[in-house]
Amino acid sequence: MALKDIIGQENAINILQRCIANKRIPHALLFAGDEGIGKRLTAVNFAKTLNCSRVKSYESRVMSKGLFEDNPEPETWDSELETQTDACDQCPSCTKIDRGQHPDVFIIEPEGEGGQIKVSVIRELEEKLSYKPFEGNYKITIIDNADKMNQEAANAFLDTLEAPPALSILILISSRPDVLLATIRSRCQRISFMPLPLDTMSRLLHEKFKKFDPGAALLLSTLSGGRLGYAMNEDLMMQRDRSFDMLQSMLNRPEEEIRDDKISMEEWFDWVQMWLRDVAVFIVTQQADFLLNRDREDEIKTFAMTTTVKDILKLTRELYNIKEHLNFNLNEKLTLNYTSLLMRKRLRKAQPKGPSMERTNARR
Ligand SMILES: [Zn+2]
Repeated sequence: MALKDIIGQENAINILQRCIANKRIPHALLFAGDEGIGKRLTAVNFAKTLNCSRVKSYESRVMSKGLFEDNPEPETWDSELETQTDACDQCPSCTKIDRGQHPDVFIIEPEGEGGQIKVSVIRELEEKLSYKPFEGNYKITIIDNADKMNQEAANAFLDTLEAPPALSILILISSRPDVLLATIRSRCQRISFMPLPLDTMSRLLHEKFKKFDPGAALLLSTLSGGRLGYAMNEDLMMQRDRSFDMLQSMLNRPEEEIRDDKISMEEWFDWVQMWLRDVAVFIVTQQADFLLNRDREDEIKTFAMTTTVKDILKLTRELYNIKEHLNFNLNEKLTLNYTSLLMRKRLRKAQPKGPSMERTNARR
């Protein structure tokens, strides 16, 4: 795959290709946007483009003249070079990067307990960046989930960012760029990745990936919030269903251990917000057409009978606050107990009435 094959991020990719065409490649980039939207895919294919070995004169030209902002205008420029704004996807360099085996392309991501990026990893990176590229035009570092650098790592990284080694390009990826140190953010050129509009995405899913019929394509587009990578994740529907089961258990059987370890706590909170949004929309409009979880209309109607929009708004804020604190190593069991308490308080104002209640009861 190459940059041209990435669907739905034309704006971001155009900016990157213009950087190459204009010979102004920033030393540090920040790819910002939701999870599952194509940031890492773009970063890898941008790295392939920069180090692609198809253009023979590229490497020597870059090595001797520099392709950087502070040295933007080599006296002569190969016109063929200017058109090379995408990876060939076939040369040894492109292949190695795809396999994660290129000696000049490093991918760093959170690991170990707590999923952090530790200072030892950043120190190791500094060491690697202190050498010239072995075979590529650049040394390219992709830091996925860069916001997971702990304090010490972030400070060490800031040093690298302040005095970037020659011929190195740093690409930070984050769905929560605001968590990064302001001093890191300000030293990176930010490239924003946007979700796809719903209709575009469901058309794409239906036309490009034949396995989805129009109904399924629309549901997936809606559930993924326009994030193609997320929609293509086969677990998406399963996660949604599990999140709902967990929510039901918390309301109906609070005394039981309800943690579903197939979903992260953060994901679960996101899903719950989506369910709550549907319940509120149904209370206000009384129409199923506006629901995101269209296929779970009956359950949403049942919820709508026992709560109010005001309570849902309160609960939404409360859950948002809890979610914001999840990064601070909250005790998971206590957090869930407290969440379950809040949910029962806000969502169980009255006993459900009408036919949907029988259905819910019959399932228990
Ligand atoms: Zn190539």
